[in-house]
Amino acid sequence: MKVMIARLNHETNTFSPVPTPLAAFGNDGPAFGLDAYEENKGKRTAMSAFIDIAEANGATVVTPVSATAYPSGRVDADAYRTLCDAIVAGARCCGAILLDLHGAMVVESTDDGEGDLLERLRQQTPDVPIAVALDLHGNVTPKMMANADVIVSFKTYPHVDMYETGEHAGRILFDWLRGGPRPVMAWRRLPLMTHTLRSATAQGAMRDAVQAARRAEDAGMLGVSVLAGFALADIPDPCLSVVVVASGDPAPAEQAAAEMVKGIWAARDGFFYDSEPLADSLARAVELACGASKPVLLLDHGDNCMSGGTCDTMEVLMAAVDAGLTGIVAGLYCDPEAVEALTSAGEGARVDILVGNKRPIPAIGRPAAPVRLQGVVGAVTDGQYVITGPTYTGQTACMGRSAVLDIGAAQLVITEKTHEPWDLGVFESMGLDPRRARFVLVKSRMYCRPVFEPISQALVECASAGVTSSDFSLFPYERRSRPRYPLDSMAPSDYDPSA
Ligand SMILES: [Zn+2]
Repeated sequence: MKVMIARLNHETNTFSPVPTPLAAFGNDGPAFGLDAYEENKGKRTAMSAFIDIAEANGATVVTPVSATAYPSGRVDADAYRTLCDAIVAGARCCGAILLDLHGAMVVESTDDGEGDLLERLRQQTPDVPIAVALDLHGNVTPKMMANADVIVSFKTYPHVDMYETGEHAGRILFDWLRGGPRPVMAWRRLPLMTHTLRSATAQGAMRDAVQAARRAEDAGMLGVSVLAGFALADIPDPCLSVVVVASGDPAPAEQAAAEMVKGIWAARDGFFYDSEPLADSLARAVELACGASKPVLLLDHGDNCMSGGTCDTMEVLMAAVDAGLTGIVAGLYCDPEAVEALTSAGEGARVDILVGNKRPIPAIGRPAAPVRLQGVVGAVTDGQYVITGPTYTGQTACMGRSAVLDIGAAQLVITEKTHEPWDLGVFESMGLDPRRARFVLVKSRMYCRPVFEPISQALVECASAGVTSSDFSLFPYERRSRPRYPLDSMAPSDYDPSA
């Protein structure tokens, strides 16, 4: 049997001014055909698990596309069409379809990137089984549910179970293809917009929800997924969902979904992140740094490239400097113009340049307002470094050409590309030792934690007005349904979790 396997991942922050053309997918654009196969085979992606399980079942694998981009604004309509056309063409004459999708892709031409793709596939070959692996931050839609047979999402955030999720969805599909009962799904979408900082699965309400999902699986459900959703999308329902896959009989699936919903709705305030005023966070950081032998980690979580941030806002850094903090190692600030100026000036040069706040963010009414900084140029590099781990250990990463600017109170790493500070290498490759700083300021929410928390005295989350802010009131939602918690207050009559 021929099986079509493809990967198309984008988490769309519709408030982000960062564009998403075809070139944004992959390092040098998306991978097609054999390149798509090789990009995944032996890796830890859901697509890689799909390939393994299909091959283990003796299937011939067709891999038209592997395309994944950093979160950013709506996907370019032509790019979306190109990628979907390739997937739909690749699925012709195949006996099964396995897709590694995100679930929160919004396109210039549609609010429902995944739903439209699945609908096209279903219309082309109505009887061909479709299994989908989704990110935990997917916004599930009626069209996605109507046009897939199996949907399973990650159970971890930070996401460390991509392969396992692919294996899970693939196993359900192949058990069916080998003659098992047809999988059935139940779906509940709650009127609940969650904060990404409250979707970590190691703590709080999200941990409890995922544990309940695992218990339901232990009790016999084939797959139970809690998708926190991605609220930074101006679409009708950027909301939390529960998807249950059961074997043959829909009644137990419906019952399990209903049970899950009751628990999650009762704990709904646990998905809400209440931002502390920045000045309070910085004052707390100063206290924590008193007499500390390790740096205090400051997270500028309102401007994170892993959710569509521009990575050039200067608010937290300037507030920290104004508040008298010193010994700061900070990054990564994406500003190609500044990199060019620092590179031309050369190491050791004294400069007076404009840095950051250059990309306007119209969605939240933020004009460009670059900051004038005086300082000395530190290391200038090509931005390549080898990841020391614990994830992606040994791989080479690239921040684009990069330079250090020392402004006295802080040493900034400025880069050509946006890049998540998920490894000490982002500073060490620039000649900076974050362990010796008093404060390490990073534009990150989650992915810096496994490497930066162990070297830190304490962690302080610092709010700022960027496109990944946890303050929903910053964002001009126009298309969302109402009422949606917590943006709207909800009376018991507005939503009945047992209905
Ligand atoms: Zn995610």
